[in-house]
Amino acid sequence: MADRMEPILPGSYLGILGGGQLGRMFTQAAQAMGYKVCVLDPGAESPAGSIAEKFIQADYTDSTALKEMATLCSSVSTEFENVPAQALDELESLGVFVAPRSSCVSLAQNRIAEKNFLATWKSETNIGPAPNFVIEHEADIAHTPTNLFPGILKTARMGYDGKGQMTVYSLEELTTAWSELGRVPCVLEKRMELDFEVSALVVRGYDDAVVAYPVSQNIHRDGILHTSTVPAPSLQPAQEKKIIDAAKALIRKIDYVGVLCVEFFVLKNGDIVANEIAPRPHNSGHYTMDACVSSQFEQQVRAMARLPLGDTRQLAPVSMLNLLGDLWFEGSEDQPKEPAWNKVLAHPDAKLHLYGKSDPRMGRKMGHINCLGENLNEARKNCAAVATELGIEP
Ligand code: ADP
Ligand code: MG
Repeated sequence: MADRMEPILPGSYLGILGGGQLGRMFTQAAQAMGYKVCVLDPGAESPAGSIAEKFIQADYTDSTALKEMATLCSSVSTEFENVPAQALDELESLGVFVAPRSSCVSLAQNRIAEKNFLATWKSETNIGPAPNFVIEHEADIAHTPTNLFPGILKTARMGYDGKGQMTVYSLEELTTAWSELGRVPCVLEKRMELDFEVSALVVRGYDDAVVAYPVSQNIHRDGILHTSTVPAPSLQPAQEKKIIDAAKALIRKIDYVGVLCVEFFVLKNGDIVANEIAPRPHNSGHYTMDACVSSQFEQQVRAMARLPLGDTRQLAPVSMLNLLGDLWFEGSEDQPKEPAWNKVLAHPDAKLHLYGKSDPRMGRKMGHINCLGENLNEARKNCAAVATELGIEP
């Protein structure tokens, strides 16, 4: 077992399950450090698969493919939240260092398990989930506490970017919504009076070292992240400390190795509520690519290669702007256009990242821009200017 603790050095292969943009940015960070990357994804074409040294096109549970990956890579991580736990377990049984472990990924895959966990965690950190009630069977609906209305009904599995969610105001609406969501296990959550939303990004090494990035303040539009600004303009220093301490406690508690994001709501009354966890680098952490000493993807490489973690220090204030497929169209999908890159690229402190996706669609994440500034105000002004030039409402 001793050699399992040795660091994996440049020149070696690292494996990643999932070929989306998070996998692509991981691959770029790994390659910059001299590693080779093996990507496994079911799709024929993927943002990460197209740039990796080795691409395996297969289902996540394909045993032959997992064996091939295990032969090449002594360490594997995931970029896709819904990768079956079975795939991670199989890799581990083949002797691969899997970070994070399947139990950590499973926790984040199921909102019921996640909310239950966040509720137990409250005793330690004083931050818990929004009041909620689990609906697994039709008969559960009648027992719903009425103080949860208005509430948001969320499917327990496979929800992302606001998908698989419906706001309901009454038991009748809840019944209809549960049917519309496919009568699958769900969580009904009280709709909270949000003042603003933030996320904490923490990293834990195999040796139990834990580091945290500055908390980012996030604005969502139609359930999809729109901007992340750091330092968080509305957050009090005491609130930031409480959030970071809580996220650090959480990552240790679940014995997680790798990059973990925890989303929080800050309520109008100042209370902090934990929303969800993501077992991987996160869209709200893309700012680290240009504004911090080490990016979240470099940290993912470091954690899975059992290297010491990088410095999380922020070098410049930043506002990240997400670029959705909508930018490639004049109003509707039958009127394509090319975004005004020349204008964006004329800004010396706006860092453009595109994910190499050839088929833009409305609402699809295509890239992001990190807008830096000498101070927070400049970064935000820069971001608003870039957004306006691209035709995005700032
Ligand atoms: P997803 O997995 O799609 O990101 P979330 O649970 O994070 O799902 O919900 C998406 C967004 O919906 C949140 O970022 C927040 O803006 C809003 N939202 C979710 N739950 C609540 C709630 N209980 N009260 C108020 N707003 C909520
Ligand atoms: Mg979310």
